[in-house]
Amino acid sequence: MTITLRYAALSDVGRVRKNNEDSGYASARLLLLADGMGGMEAGEVASSVTVQTIRKIDEPPAADLLEILAGAVQRANDRLAEIIEVDASVDGMGTTITGMLSDGERIALVHVGDSRAYRVREGRLKQLTRDHTFVQSLIDEGRLTRDEAKVHPHRSVLIRALDGRQELEPDLSVLDLVAGDRVLLCSDGVTDFLPDVEIEQLLTDGTVDSAAVDIVRASLARGSNDNVTVVVADVVEVGEEPVAAEDPMIFGAAAEDARPRSVHDSGVRTTRSPSTTADDEDDGDGSRAAAGDPEELRYAPRAPLRFIWLRRLVVITVVLVLVGLGLKLLYDWTQRQYYVGASQDQVAIFRGIDQTIPGLTLTRVEVGYDIALNSLPSYLRQDVEEGISAEGLEHARRIVGNLQDDIDECSRPNPDPEQCAGAEPPEPSPSEPPEPSPNEPGPTEATDGAGQAGGGRP
Ligand code: CA
Repeated sequence: MTITLRYAALSDVGRVRKNNEDSGYASARLLLLADGMGGMEAGEVASSVTVQTIRKIDEPPAADLLEILAGAVQRANDRLAEIIEVDASVDGMGTTITGMLSDGERIALVHVGDSRAYRVREGRLKQLTRDHTFVQSLIDEGRLTRDEAKVHPHRSVLIRALDGRQELEPDLSVLDLVAGDRVLLCSDGVTDFLPDVEIEQLLTDGTVDSAAVDIVRASLARGSNDNVTVVVADVVEVGEEPVAAEDPMIFGAAAEDARPRSVHDSGVRTTRSPSTTADDEDDGDGSRAAAGDPEELRYAPRAPLRFIWLRRLVVITVVLVLVGLGLKLLYDWTQRQYYVGASQDQVAIFRGIDQTIPGLTLTRVEVGYDIALNSLPSYLRQDVEEGISAEGLEHARRIVGNLQDDIDECSRPNPDPEQCAGAEPPEPSPSEPPEPSPNEPGPTEATDGAGQAGGGRP
């Protein structure tokens, strides 16, 4: 027995949202439904790219159905990763995907997220997918009842999605479907508002077209504040009755000209064109408010984009402050160092270290003395030119005092020729004690002597 799918689909932006983040595709072989999420229209990109990527498998299957579906979903996820790599503004986007692929004998299912697949057979509804949601995991663990889950504040939070970042774990299975079964794919804009018993009844009655419209209308009537998207398909035996060849449908954000639209006040809006979701229709109130959007909860596991940038800014600021603080501490330390060196051929006490950092002066003359370098014996002159480090200002003064003592010693008649080699008689009075410059004892401004002292030993 060869089977095919006779389908109808409808995607409605709903009464609250400005944009339709759902995307879908339907053909006699392939049914897809993706519910995108992520602000700044990223949700539309995610669901649209996913549907556009996976729809390429809509051809006679040349391999195992599950392999084909798994490969296609992986390619969609890779595609999202590429887009995020190029455009950081869509980082954080994601989408659900629920799809069915037929090879004419069997139908396989792929599922990630919380868009659902149902089957109705002889009037009885069966859910074919298990939500990848936080509340479903609590139900599985016996920590939450189904009724509690329906009102749980985090009931929309997904634990699995296609987001171009996480390793994919799609649910894959071959379905037990036979001719006469009817299937439904729908976004949570339906299932958050319509109880199963109502879905069962609406799905059982009428044609695929009327069932699709009825389910969307009922969801909106029940107060759905989300995008509402459904795909309804009958499993039909080929030859059992003529199945008209129909163009595949692409709808929601994946359709090139997807725009907000409504079915509230008009009839059926299913479209069989590959490039549009529905006839042109007045968008109605284009300013539908999305304030207090419960859909935001779906991104809760990941910080929204603005917080990511805010956090990056905070991290950068903290790093800069720490670096600045470290430099300040280092600078303060240098300004507690002293050494005796040469400034304009005279002895001086320097504060700081004789190192150069562009734009920053690390040393300056603290106290200048009227002690000419050439009045020092050669070996002391060399020491001063290289810089004699001191443990503090007082220590530096004692070093200068010792230098003066050496000069005095060499100024006496018959000085030790070895000790006083190279020392010229000081001018004008060799016996004067070391005299600070007029600006002693206070620090003196380094003129052009700063950083020009011969050498230095911090
Ligand atoms: Ca949704």
